[in-house]
Amino acid sequence: MEIIDNHICKICKKSYSSYSSLWNHHKNIHKNNNSTNVNFIPPNSTNDIQKSINYNCRYCNKIYNKNKSRWKHEQKCKVIYEEKNKEKQLIEIKIAEINKEKEIELAKINKEIKLAEINLELKKVEIIASSEAYIRPLGLEKKIH
Ligand SMILES: [Zn+2]
Ligand SMILES: [Zn+2]
Repeated sequence: MEIIDNHICKICKKSYSSYSSLWNHHKNIHKNNNSTNVNFIPPNSTNDIQKSINYNCRYCNKIYNKNKSRWKHEQKCKVIYEEKNKEKQLIEIKIAEINKEKEIELAKINKEIKLAEINLELKKVEIIASSEAYIRPLGLEKKIH
């Protein structure tokens, strides 16, 4: 007899060679007895827990124990994420428009500055020309005297 002591049903004292068969026994025979089943872990549960750690939402990175609950959450999260993305895109488009307007305005201002500079240069030339014209009659006056 190679039955290991660890695999004995606590309720009916039946012995099992493996933990999984004992678990199956518990599941099938004592399924209504919750008080003794509380700390009874399914044979593959450790693997399930390790797997479940990776069930995180691809939109907000929330971690879920079960793939199903993660999937449920993702359906909601997806809508929120896509709406946020749309808002983001709209904001980006608006920013781009504002930047374009700014650029156009800046170009206008630059043009105006250049025009003002040209006007200033023209005025300088005018002043010089008029002052020269003013000197000339003076010179003429002197010649008359
Ligand atoms: Zn039993
Ligand atoms: Zn999410």
